[in-house]
Formats: sequence, structure tokens, C-alpha cells
Amino acid sequence: MRDLILHLPRRWEDRTTFRPIGSLRPGAVETIQGKLGTLKTKSPRRGMTICQIPLSDGTGTVQLTWFNQPYAVKTLTAGAHVIANGKVEENFGELQINTPEIETGEEHIQAGRIVPVYPLTGNINQKWLRKVLFTAVPTYAPKLPEPLPHHLLASQSFPGKGRAVLEFHWPADFARRDLARRRLAFEELFLLQMELAEQRKDREQEPRILFFQLEQPLLESFLERLPFQPTGAQFRVMQQILGDLARPVPMNRLLQGDVGSGKTAVAAFAAWCAFRSGFQAAIMAPTEILSEQHFHKLQEMLEPAGVRCARLSGSQKKSEKKKVYAALAEHSVDLVVGTHALIQEGVEFARLGLVVVDEQHKFGVMQRTVLRQKGHNPDLLVMTATPIPRTLALTLYGDLEVSRLDELPPGRQPIQSESVPFSERRRVYDDIRRQIQEGRQAYIICPLVEETDKVEATAAVEEAEVLRTRVFPEFSVALLHGRMKGAEKEKVMQEFRSGLHQILISTTVIEVGVDVPNATHMLVQDANRFGLAQLHQLRGRVGRGRHASRCIFMGDAKSEDSARRLKAIARLSDGFDVAEEDLQIRGPGDFYGLRQSGFPEFKVADLLRDQDLLELARHQAENIMREDPHLEHSDHRTLRQALEGRQLRSAELVH
Ligand code: ADP
Ligand code: MG
Repeated sequence: MRDLILHLPRRWEDRTTFRPIGSLRPGAVETIQGKLGTLKTKSPRRGMTICQIPLSDGTGTVQLTWFNQPYAVKTLTAGAHVIANGKVEENFGELQINTPEIETGEEHIQAGRIVPVYPLTGNINQKWLRKVLFTAVPTYAPKLPEPLPHHLLASQSFPGKGRAVLEFHWPADFARRDLARRRLAFEELFLLQMELAEQRKDREQEPRILFFQLEQPLLESFLERLPFQPTGAQFRVMQQILGDLARPVPMNRLLQGDVGSGKTAVAAFAAWCAFRSGFQAAIMAPTEILSEQHFHKLQEMLEPAGVRCARLSGSQKKSEKKKVYAALAEHSVDLVVGTHALIQEGVEFARLGLVVVDEQHKFGVMQRTVLRQKGHNPDLLVMTATPIPRTLALTLYGDLEVSRLDELPPGRQPIQSESVPFSERRRVYDDIRRQIQEGRQAYIICPLVEETDKVEATAAVEEAEVLRTRVFPEFSVALLHGRMKGAEKEKVMQEFRSGLHQILISTTVIEVGVDVPNATHMLVQDANRFGLAQLHQLRGRVGRGRHASRCIFMGDAKSEDSARRLKAIARLSDGFDVAEEDLQIRGPGDFYGLRQSGFPEFKVADLLRDQDLLELARHQAENIMREDPHLEHSDHRTLRQALEGRQLRSAELVH
């Protein structure tokens, strides 16, 4: 019954007033009332029966019409007073309503009020569901437990749970419906924030098992090894990390930094701290290419200082992997960089003190948890180029400390972006040619939505062939796609990095983290097929050196949304602006595929619309946790029960 009455309306129809039949116009959905006339049944051809009953209210008459539904009129008798609702249509000069909703009883459920419209599944019908809920909601809603403390209800002037549910289903007016909605939305957000607050409390009470030796000049010794001066932002975040390591609770930090802002150096610093204190560190990246790249960079920087580095990836031979497993278990490796292979069974660490997850939005929550569980309460640093808007960050990462790299390394030139229609491809190709003649390199991205898709891999191969033989015969053109083996991919990347190829045609496998500073030109073909966040990520592959960079998004918009995306990507360069726009276009549910990664779904709350409620919920949750951390107060008893009863889905999110 609880599930049934919490099956909430999707929208409402205002059927409070009846329209005089004489004033009906074709095209509108209307609610009318009147007296039924006599049923006429026609059979214009075999297999078709039309039932018509005139309905009159003194101002006019309309024909209620049913096709092949003789059962629909069985209970309708001439002279009965009924309410009808449906779309008015005109047929040979006569007004009719096809398959109307009819109500005969005394109780006006389907009309004469604001009527809920429910989402339907299976062959449940709207009218039936309404009838059931019309009696069920008033009976059972008052019995729903009230999770919100009274002091909170009072201070916010929210209706109680039962009243809110009732008024959400069957509102007396729209203002009450709105208040009920806010109250129900608040409850969802508040319970989530309470969970986050409890998580935070638990972790803070769980003391650090691993102690860092911070008396060493950790930062100085690291900066000596860093091949460049850190940006102010990098320096600040490194100090924040030092601060975290000195605290008695493990670090739990989210590092947001736009593509190219230099997150890798920060990860390297954290790994350095772990190493110098005698711990192992693990860095997990979402793709083989990226983990390979991290591995090389970190090895180059840290191995001379005695950090023993290893790599773990799915494409390695079993025997190779086994060797790494053994080295990790006996602590003859200090730093391991890898893909999902890191969280496989069999991977065990002797002294794992730090976990870094790069491009964390590519990982599910569970994966992060599993890696973390391979150590004893290790420090966690998650890094992302996804600039999560504040609302979502609060919801998703309510208990993470957030750092931002809001400064790009010096010498970067802004990337010139442009959206062009396909018809301008000749000019675009000429631009690329000119760049290459000046010694630069270029990426051409093909519209492969799923890198594992065989059909699309073939398309990339064909496209590469055309570009190689017809458009750029004078250059060395290489191809990279997701169906290639790990080693093959890495070979191509290595060759491109070393300048052997001038052009790299790639699917979106290139999207994440790849860093070749001499590649200054990017052409995204069929850009209309990519999401905004993805376009921004792709663009981040250029603009990484001191040469001016360009990114051309080529494609013809096929929808309003895709036109909006193409316009936005050319106009916006800041990742946060891109993210906000993406959120506007797609809505929070779709945002960066968060749904797949366990993002909590709300029945009522809407993260775009309810930012104020989210802040309020967070604030109230913090207050309550501060004043009554174990929820022992009698006014908090039902809240505690509600929290215990909930699946701790959101808790998983932040670990
Ligand atoms: P992202 O934040 O996208 O992961 P990376 O860590 O890959 O960025 O850094 C992008 C590029 O900038 C790399 O080539 C890196 O060596 C370089 N870089 C990072 N920090 C600095 C700095 N402070 N000064 C100069 N170059 C830097
Ligand atoms: Mg990176």
C-alpha cells in the first residue's frame, strides 16, 4: 500500500470548472457535464461499430463517440447525469469527443477538481488508478511515518507527511500542491544529507591508522623533482594535501581541475608523500592509454628518487600481472598505476596508504570503494576534469573536501574554437594542412559514440582511409580506435607523440587525459553527435603547449539541442560554464551519465529547481548532527528509523 500511495502524479489537469457545451471549440481537451441522450449504434462497414451518445447541458450538444468499444457504453443510460472529459473534435460539422473519460457516480473523481495524471506501466489504466488512489491516499497517507522532526516542520511551515502526500495527489489548489511538492522534495534531499553527515561523522571518528612522517620537507623535495614550477593553484592544493595528511582522519579530497590544469603533478605529489612515509600508492585511470601515460610520467619523475613503479592493466599477460601482484604484496613496488585491473581479486597491497582515482566520473562508485578497501583506511584523492556544478557537488560529494585547480600552467594560449557546417570542410582541411606545414600535429576525431562498437570501428577505418589517401596524401596519418589491442594503441600513441605521424585519426578513446603538446589542431567531425561535456574533454587534448591551438567542431545540427550544443561549445571555454550549460540542456538525470554511476534519483526533488532546498537540507542536517549526533532526542526518533530503514545507497556514493 505504501508503494501504491507513493506512486506520485507526473502532472495535473485543472478540471475544476466545466465548460458549457455550447462554447466548445475543436482541438482542446475539455471537461463538461450534462445529460445523456439515447445511444445510437452504427456499423458503417464490417468489423466496425460506432457507438454515439449525445450529451447536452442546455447550452448545446456534443456527440460522445466510441469506435469498436461496445462495452464502454454498457453502463450508460439515457437521462443519466455524467461528467465527460476528452479532446473535442469536429466531424461533418458536428462536435464530438472520441473515447471520452466518463464519470457517472456522485463522487467526482475524474473532474470537478484538479486531477492527477499518473505515470502508467503495463496495462493499468489512468482512470482506474485514479479511482483506486482516490480512496487509498486519504485512507493510508495519514498512516505514513513522519521522518521530519516537528521542530523542522514548524520552522519551515511545512505540512506533515500525510497531508503533503494527500495534497500532492489531490490538491485543492495549485498553491497547496506546490507547498506539498516542496515539502516532499525537501524530505528527499534532507534524508540524503543526513546520510552524508553521518558518513562524515563516522569517518572522522575512525582514526587514521597510517601516519605520515611530515617532519621531512616533503614539498621542497618534491618540487626539486618536478620538471616545472608549480602554478599557484597546484602549490595551494599540494599544501592542502599536506594539511589533510597531518589530520587524524584520512584524506577524502576531490580535486577538480579543467583539462590541462596539471592534476597529474598533484597526484604525483600525493604519491611522493606516501612513498616518503613508507607507504604504497595506487593510481587508477579509466583507460589504458591514460594509465600508460601516467605511468611514464611518474616513473620518469619519481624513479630516480627511488620510487619503484609498476603498471597493471587488463591487456598484460597473466604472468606479467602475477609478477606485479607479488611485488605489491611484498612491498617491492611503491607506486602502481593501472586501470580497472587494479581492483581485481588477487591484487593485494602490503601497505597501501594512498589511493588516487583519476577522471573519477568514468568510474562507478563501487570501483572506488573496492580499491580503497585494499588498504587500511587509506587516504583518497579523486580527480576530475568534470566541473561538477555546485548543486550536484553538494549532493554527490557532500562529505568530500573540494580543491580546485583554477589556473592553467603559464604560456598556454586560449584555444580558438569554432563550429562550422560540414559544407566548409575544404577550408577546414586547408587550415590543418597549413598548421602541419608549420611543424604542428593534428587530431581528427570521428563520430564514434561507442568505442567498442564494431560497426563504428569499421567506419573509422574507412574514414581514415579516405583522409589518408585523398585528403592528406602528403602526410603520415595514423589511426586509433577502441577495438585495437592495448599494445597496438600504445604504439600508435608513442609514434604520434614522437612526431612520426602528423595526423592522428581517433575515436573518443583519445578523450581522456592524453597529452601531446605539439598537437595544436583538432577537428571533430560530426560534432553534432557528441555531448557537450565530451566535446569539451576532446578539446582539452589541444592547447597543451605554447603554440596557439584551434579546435573546429564540424557538423550540421540535427535538433534544437544539438544546435545549442554546437553554439555553446564554440562560445564557452571554461569547463564550469560548459558544465552549467550541459546541465541546462540535458537536465541533472542525464548529466555526464551520472545515473549509471549510482547518482541518487529523486522522485520529487529537481536539482535544477530546488537548489535552495538542497542548501536548506544540508544546513538543517548539519545542525541536527551537531546538536544530537546519535539522534536520541524523542523528536528525532522517527528520523532515525527512517535513516535506518533506507538502503544506504548514497553512502556508497562517497566511498
Ligand atoms: P590534467 O589536469 O588535464 O590531467 P596534466 O596533468 O596532464 O593535466 O597536465 C597537462 C600538461 O601541462 C602536461 O604536459 C604537464 O606536464 C603540463 N604541466 C602541468 N603543470 C605544469 C606547470 N606548473 N608548468 C608547466 N607545465 C605544466
Ligand atoms: Mg589528467
